[in-house]
Amino acid sequence: MTTPALAAIRAEALRLGFVACGAATLEPSARGDALDAWLRAGYAGTMGYLPRQARKRKAPETITPGAHSAVVVLENYTPPPNERPQPGDAYKIAGYARGTDYHLVLHGRLHKLAEWMLAAGATVANVWVDDGPVPERELAERAGLGWIGKNTMLIHPRIGSYTLIGTIFTDLALSPDLPPVGDHCGTCTRCLEACPTDAFVTERVLDATRCLSYFTIEHRGEPPAEFHAAWDGWAFGCDVCNDVCPWNVKFAEATVEPEYGMRPHPDRRNPAYFEQLTEAEFAEHFAETPLARPGLDRMRRNTRLAVASRHTERP
Ligand code: SF4
Ligand code: SF4
Repeated sequence: MTTPALAAIRAEALRLGFVACGAATLEPSARGDALDAWLRAGYAGTMGYLPRQARKRKAPETITPGAHSAVVVLENYTPPPNERPQPGDAYKIAGYARGTDYHLVLHGRLHKLAEWMLAAGATVANVWVDDGPVPERELAERAGLGWIGKNTMLIHPRIGSYTLIGTIFTDLALSPDLPPVGDHCGTCTRCLEACPTDAFVTERVLDATRCLSYFTIEHRGEPPAEFHAAWDGWAFGCDVCNDVCPWNVKFAEATVEPEYGMRPHPDRRNPAYFEQLTEAEFAEHFAETPLARPGLDRMRRNTRLAVASRHTERP
């Protein structure tokens, strides 16, 4: 059987609903030393899986035995204007978390593409979302799908950065067919200046232990008091360093994938929504959403801090 060319894989990926597709080689990461320095500085906080994954993350060829390249796809989750935070909302939820958990959605679509690749001649087609040791932003950059901006996000020059990255490690010997995009941040520093908690140590270096996404999703217990006034109304995640990016302002177009559409729960107008919910109701409404990760207790904590911060002067 002949093996599929990248152009045929891309055509199938776009047919399945991905907005971009490329191929990356699996040579060692160019950012290995930077990752080690970042971990040594303690910027990963309590995310113990990051140091555990570091060895493979620095050597992508070791992630999937038998793989020689990776197919990299982008999924667009851009919220339409009416699904962004609205005046009168008591708290805010990050755009990627307003619908079904993207791990479920992306895994489903990636597996369809992997099955297609296997049927077309691949013998290895291993699917990864962002729950493994894959340096997906660097692989996407290698695949010509964008550059890693000063806000650490992958930015596609015609799509922006409200995207999710999926990879399929394969034994097919695919070579990138798109030219490198290059760094288009230029002199812009909007994301660094807009961050409510000053979480960027410098451009492309994020101290996760100061980031609202880390606090609202990963951090257990009460966040340090110095951050409470800067909470900026976020009850889950934070979109600020994406929202201010001119590449999103100019180019991001609302997703057409219904799975990412806003669900009726939670009621963002009700500041006591999570306080009033039982565990059974929380499970019923949020089991398949990103909010299941922090769980009800932490969503209560987050919402309390979010609501309070909207009535507090920032320092
Ligand atoms: S997600 Fe929010 S808190 Fe975290 S770095 Fe970006 S702007 Fe700062
Ligand atoms: S806001 Fe400006 S500096 Fe930050 S990622 Fe976007 S283009 Fe780059």
